[in-house]
Amino acid sequence: MGTRIDGKALAAKTCESLQAVVGSLSKEGPAPGLHVILVGDDPASRVYVGSKARKAESIGIRSELTVLPEGTSYGELEDRIGALNADESVDGILVQLPLPNLPTRDVLDLVAPEKDVDGFHPINAGLLLQKRPRFVPCTPLGVLAMLDAYGVETSGKNALVIGRSDIVGKPMGALLTHRNATVTIAHSRTVDLEQQVGEAEILVVAMGRMRSVPARWIRPGATVIDVGIHRMEDKKLTGDVHPDGLEERAAFYTPVPGGVGPMTIAMLMVNTTLAAVLRRGGDPSLLSDLIPSV
Ligand code: NAP
Repeated sequence: MGTRIDGKALAAKTCESLQAVVGSLSKEGPAPGLHVILVGDDPASRVYVGSKARKAESIGIRSELTVLPEGTSYGELEDRIGALNADESVDGILVQLPLPNLPTRDVLDLVAPEKDVDGFHPINAGLLLQKRPRFVPCTPLGVLAMLDAYGVETSGKNALVIGRSDIVGKPMGALLTHRNATVTIAHSRTVDLEQQVGEAEILVVAMGRMRSVPARWIRPGATVIDVGIHRMEDKKLTGDVHPDGLEERAAFYTPVPGGVGPMTIAMLMVNTTLAAVLRRGGDPSLLSDLIPSV
């Protein structure tokens, strides 16, 4: 039987340690501040935004929200993000995705790199590629923290990342490469996914296709990280990996829910605090126990 990687517990532990750092920063100045922009009325986005705000407040991070109506123009967003970039009280800016009928890449480029706590700005993406990271996208950073917490060795291992998005797949591939894994990135044009999966000692699945990787494809003893999140007809959440037989097959595996999701939010809180420290000329090593080394 494999070991279940408890993302919920690890996220709680991370946030508890972070609270102490936030507490000491808040004695010297304003608490770190996160500003979230939500465009439109997507119910799932509202839920995500709400849970980010509650987590921030529980740690002592100030959390503010701008809600803009669906139909907001690029120009209006440009003005709003410009104002937040210039606002000294804002340390981190997050634009909740998906953005309805807006050019997502152009909008994300508007966020000042030093407030880009999602790590999506090309400058932060470039810094990660060059192995001198500043803000690393929260989901892959959370995955790395989970691998570290459970002592999963990456060096010299065959790692397969399924998905090549800018948000998950590509930065995950970069992180695993920096950690000396031999990385393959699969995508929708990959010819024989089953064969690729069968060779992976570390498998990160971020394809956005419900239960598409059956346990029988997985190499026995592999570590399996499931980034996918989907709501089934019975309203329960599930991932991109089929859970049947997974715990018998994998040495380590993440559940859905309770795996990658909570760690993503925890890393957003870490990145927001890092933004505050860096903007105030503080010592980023305050956070070195909470940010996996790259
Ligand atoms: P995305 O932008 O839709 O990217 C999906 C990737 O999967 C693409 O690169 C696509 O290939 C690839 N893909 C699709 N079908 C495939 C197939 N049959 N075989 C191999 N590759 C295939 O998604 P994302 O933003 O990276 O997110 C992925 C999943 O993670 C989603 O379910 C999302 O909801 C979830 N997610 C969860 C969290 C969390 O906190 N738990 C955070 C972020 C995302 P092409 O490039 O060729 O199209």
